[in-house]
Amino acid sequence: MTDDQPRSLTNRPRLRYAPSPTGDPHVGNIRQAVWSWLHAKRYGGDFIVRLEDTDQARAQPGADRRIFDSLRWLGVEWDEGPDVGGPHGPYVQSQRLDVYHEEINKLLVQNKVRRCFCSPERLDTIREEQRQNKVPPGIRDCCDVDPTEAEERAASGEANVVRFRTPRTGTTVANDLLRGDISFENHTLDDFVLIKSDGYPTYHFAHVVDDHAMEITLVTRGEEWISSLPRHALLFDAFGYERPIYAHASVIKAPGGGKLSKRHGAKSVLEYSDDGYLPDSLLNFLCLTGWGHEDQTIFSRDELLSLFDMANITLASATFDHDKLEWLNGTYIRSLDSATFAKALKARLELDLPPDVARPVDESLVEDIAPLIQERITLMTDAIHLVDFFWVTDVPVPPVEDFLVKKWRDRGPEAATALSTAATKLEAISDSEWNRERIETVLREHAESIGLKAGELLSIVRTAVTGKKVSPPLFESVEIIGKGLSVERLQSAALSLNA
Ligand code: GLU
Repeated sequence: MTDDQPRSLTNRPRLRYAPSPTGDPHVGNIRQAVWSWLHAKRYGGDFIVRLEDTDQARAQPGADRRIFDSLRWLGVEWDEGPDVGGPHGPYVQSQRLDVYHEEINKLLVQNKVRRCFCSPERLDTIREEQRQNKVPPGIRDCCDVDPTEAEERAASGEANVVRFRTPRTGTTVANDLLRGDISFENHTLDDFVLIKSDGYPTYHFAHVVDDHAMEITLVTRGEEWISSLPRHALLFDAFGYERPIYAHASVIKAPGGGKLSKRHGAKSVLEYSDDGYLPDSLLNFLCLTGWGHEDQTIFSRDELLSLFDMANITLASATFDHDKLEWLNGTYIRSLDSATFAKALKARLELDLPPDVARPVDESLVEDIAPLIQERITLMTDAIHLVDFFWVTDVPVPPVEDFLVKKWRDRGPEAATALSTAATKLEAISDSEWNRERIETVLREHAESIGLKAGELLSIVRTAVTGKKVSPPLFESVEIIGKGLSVERLQSAALSLNA
C-alpha cells in the first residue's frame, strides 16, 4: 500500500457513512458505518461522515448530534465530517446547494437532463394509465420542452423539477463487490428527479455528486439500495465520472427470518448504551453480524482493524442473535481490568443510583465493590440491583415471606434472636480487626453455637444486611458497609421479625 499508487479497494480507500438525520441510527445502519470505518482504516484510507439532509421535511432536530454521539460512543472516529471539517467540505448536504446547481447545469447544457413542468395532476394521470396498461410504474417522457424555452420558463419562476433522461432501451450493468455484475433493463427505469421543485437535490443526485466530489472509492450500504443502483450508475456515466465500487450488504433479520423489530434489536445504538452494553461488545457483535474470521468470536479493536475486509462480508442475511450479544457483553465485562471496570461501574451507578445519593459517587467505595460483582453481571445495568444497599441508608426490611424462607418459615422469633445476637457479636469486633476474615469467623462460630449450619444463619444475615436474598459475597459486603450500619440493619431486621 503506497501513496503513489492509485486509490483502490485496498489502497487508501475512501469510504463514507451518509446518514439522513431523520432519527436515531439503528444497529443495521451503524453496522455499515462501523464496517466502512474498519475497511478504511485497515487499508490506510479515510472515513468520512456526510449528513444527507436534503429531505428537510423529515430532518429531525438533534438527530445529527445523536448520530455523532452513537459513533463516538462506539469509538468510531472520522477523518472528515460536519464537525471536524476537511478538504471536501461542507459535509452537510443542505450547505452544498451551490455545488448541486453547478453540477446540474453541466448536465442541462449537455441535454442529459430535462426540466419537467408537468402538474401533479398530469403525473397522476400518467401513473393511472400505467396501472391500467400494466406498464412498469415510473414517469418517463412526460414532456419534452425545448431547452431554451425551458430555461426561460424556469427563470420566470415557473415551478419545475429536473429529470434525468434515462435511456429507453438497452441495459445498464452495475457491479457489486459481493454479487458481481447486476443488469437492469432500462425500459423499467424512470426519468427520475434530480432537482426538486424547491430547488433541493434528491438523494440520488446529491449523493452521486458528493461521492464524486469527496473522492469516495467504495460505497457500502444496505441491499435496499440495489434497485437504485442503475440510476446512480447512469448518473456517474452521464457526468463522465468514475463510478465507485459498490458493496450492498444484506439486511439483518430477526431470529426466524422476519424483519428486525425493536424487540429483536432494531434499537438505536444509544439505547444499547442506556441498557448497559459496553461499546466494545456491541462493536464486536455488529462486526460479527454478517462478517466473520475463521471461528473466532471475540475480537479486540486492533484485531478488527487488522482483519476486517469488506470483500469478506457474507451475502446471506445475518440474524440478530440477541443471546450472543448478551453473552458477549458479559464476557467483555469479565475481561476488563479492574480499574477499567471500576470506572465503568462508577459511571453507570451515577446514572442509576437514587437521586438523593450524592454525586460524584465515592470512587474508592466503587473500587472496593467492583471486584465483588465483576463476575456476576451481564449488563452494566445489572449492577444497581446488586449494590444499591451500599449507598441506600434505609435498606427496607424485606417482607417476612421473603425473609423467612426454608428453615425459617414460621420461626420468626428464633430468627430475630439469631440476628440480634449476630449484631452483638459483630459489634464486639474491634475496629482494627474489622475485616472479611474476622467477620466470617464470628458469624460461623455464632451459627455453631446455636446449633445452625453456617448457611442457615448466613441466609438471614444476608437478607437483613443487604435487603436481598442474592447479593455480592456477604463477608466482603459486611466489611465494606462497616460495623455501624451492619449492626443497625441486623437489629432493625430482628425488631421487625419480632413485631
Ligand atoms: N442517506 C442514505 C441513507 O440514510 C444513504 C444511502 C447511501 O449510503 O447511499 O440511507
